[in-house]
Amino acid sequence: MLRYMTAQPRLSRPIETCRFCDGALVTSVYDTIFRDPEADERLFFAIPGALCVPCRQLYVDQQLIGILGLDGARCTFAIESDRVLTAGQAGAA
Ligand SMILES: [Zn+2]
Repeated sequence: MLRYMTAQPRLSRPIETCRFCDGALVTSVYDTIFRDPEADERLFFAIPGALCVPCRQLYVDQQLIGILGLDGARCTFAIESDRVLTAGQAGAA
């Protein structure tokens, strides 16, 4: 039986546990507010992330942080999105 394939780590999701408390992370899609060093608040919807409930710490992929221009910004609010927007809805207005 060739079952070893299922034992491979999922390379696309390197974040699995909280780096502060080792707790399990809730991987989902979140609506978020980030406050950048200039104290501007910016809203982002449907951000894929991983939330540690005990720490209230939201982990977002570092590459995505760079794409959004959020280096140095702090997440001040995150709530799990009720609905996941599909890519087809972007710019539909
Ligand atoms: Zn934690």
